[in-house]
Amino acid sequence: MRMRSYQVCECGAPLKLAETDVPTPQGAQVLLKMLAAGVCHSDLHIWDGYYEVGGGKRLNLVERGIKLPLTMGHENVGEVIEVGPEASGVKVGDVRLVNPWIGCGQCKVCRRGEENLCLKPQSLGVYAQGGYATHMLVPHTRHLFDIGRLSPRDAAPLACSGVTAYSALKKVQATLKDEPVVIVGAGGVGLMGVTLARKMGASEVIAVDIDPAKREAALAAGATKTIDGAAPDAVKQVHAATGGGAWAVIDFVGSSQTVNLAIGSIVKGGTVVVVGLFGGDVTVPTPFLPLRAMTLRGSYVGSHREIAELLELVNRTGMPQVPIRTRPLDEVSAALGDLRAGKVVGRVVLTA
Ligand SMILES: [Zn+2]
Ligand SMILES: [Zn+2]
Repeated sequence: MRMRSYQVCECGAPLKLAETDVPTPQGAQVLLKMLAAGVCHSDLHIWDGYYEVGGGKRLNLVERGIKLPLTMGHENVGEVIEVGPEASGVKVGDVRLVNPWIGCGQCKVCRRGEENLCLKPQSLGVYAQGGYATHMLVPHTRHLFDIGRLSPRDAAPLACSGVTAYSALKKVQATLKDEPVVIVGAGGVGLMGVTLARKMGASEVIAVDIDPAKREAALAAGATKTIDGAAPDAVKQVHAATGGGAWAVIDFVGSSQTVNLAIGSIVKGGTVVVVGLFGGDVTVPTPFLPLRAMTLRGSYVGSHREIAELLELVNRTGMPQVPIRTRPLDEVSAALGDLRAGKVVGRVVLTA
């Protein structure tokens, strides 16, 4: 049997189609036939090979251990077609969501269930081969999740945009029910944040975006108010909408401008969670940290347990109201191009 995969062979250069033999799963490995692969904004950074870190500097991903050629794609659902001799818990024909945020599996961090924070990341579609392909090898059955009554197309984005939004929201759960939560950036992950916030009990969700189409999508996804992030008085508007400043702002963009907006928008005791990887830098006067009792923290994807919780939440309460468009696998380069051009509202999912 042959497999097709779309690979990054050189940073920034067009993806190349590779045809190889389908691998045979060894040990605890599982072979999936791909059913759905979500296209994520972070693929653009992986493809380019760097993140902007402000002041014209870049964080080089190849120097940090990403090896080429690489098949990207980390939001994957597939059907089990072969299992290794030591694989247990799944059988041929099962449809599974793949947790791509995996670590070494051995260290203390991994053993307490936070493989997404392992110092030796093996993330599928980032450090190891991902799902922009007809087939995919998953190293262990513990990375596979039953999607319940969800369709593969709907479930795929939960592996990254879903769990990323969910994990960020959990970090402000203490005030989620009785204070407005501010979501900055209503792209694919931000919209997921809006809709999951409502599912998690938030009564007021304020979405900030510079694009009117994305503000419209945020309202459709359950936002109770939107603010134009490009307005010169955007921070003032957040203060007015939250009754004097927000307890929780989640920044799904992560640019200098949006993080500054987020910091300016919080009330004393408030928290800013930065999720987006747009890039840039901020300067915070150090006395502000104690005097405003502020928390500025990051959140990176999510843990094994959070994926399980999210699947349970979505199976119980229904799919997030995020528009999903499917495209054939062979259009992966065009799909990434549209994402880079800002033409995608919601999520694109590739189907084999
Ligand atoms: Zn992603
Ligand atoms: Zn580890």
